[in-house]
Amino acid sequence: MTKKTLLQVKGLKVAYGGIQAVKGVNFEVAEGELVSLIGANGAGKTTTLKAVTGIQPVGAGDILYLGKSIQGQGPWDLVKQGLVMVPEGRGTFTRMTITENLQMGAFIRNDREIEADIDKVFTTFPRLKERRNQLAGTMSGGEQQMLAMGRALMARPKVLLLDEPSMGLSPIMVDKIFEVVETIHKQGVTILLVEQNASRALSLADRGYVMDSGEVTMSGEAKALLNDPKVRAAYLGE
Ligand code: ATP
Repeated sequence: MTKKTLLQVKGLKVAYGGIQAVKGVNFEVAEGELVSLIGANGAGKTTTLKAVTGIQPVGAGDILYLGKSIQGQGPWDLVKQGLVMVPEGRGTFTRMTITENLQMGAFIRNDREIEADIDKVFTTFPRLKERRNQLAGTMSGGEQQMLAMGRALMARPKVLLLDEPSMGLSPIMVDKIFEVVETIHKQGVTILLVEQNASRALSLADRGYVMDSGEVTMSGEAKALLNDPKVRAAYLGE
């Protein structure tokens, strides 16, 4: 049975003034998938995520979420519908505690299960539980990444977009973060993972897309991409 497509990006173009950062990109993410978008610095990966989440205006093309165009909708509306991003650099509320940050992640909800969901996040991230009363700004980079992911989960995402979660972290913390990405995926969350760490991202993913200079240059099963000599030469340092 073919899986339902949750997110479909068609001919997406995004420019900053006269600079075309994304030049007609196509990709899709189906329910339950973990899809990785890899590529070098400046390839246009972050810009693509910003366009999908309503932060950056779309120049041309269309973005369909749950089968409908979401063009023109702002980040707030999209989070409410389950399209949630963890931005590069994390963006935690540094003067709030861990618990308060998680509560903020549920700002679009008014149900009675928020406390239960905080407990669930604490089960996925025991480190956050240990430090629940600590100010976010005093946590390490890896801990803040966990917090940003936990906060995004509080919005009960249907599709979670992760922008370079391993960036700037120590090797041990990188291992931990990829472990957690896998756990969240196994819990049933559909994930679009943007990474420069191509090897780790493709090892986890079902499918992958390679971006270069604003275009998707390759795509396919993640394992096939991982074994592709061109990908290995350009992105895996071989
Ligand atoms: P990185 O891993 O470095 O974040 P990326 O693949 O995510 O790379 P983008 O950040 O999307 O790439 O950048 C794509 C292009 O758009 C780059 O040439 C970048 O310099 C440019 N760009 C990004 N943000 C802006 C901005 N706010 N104003 C002008 N140009 C920008």
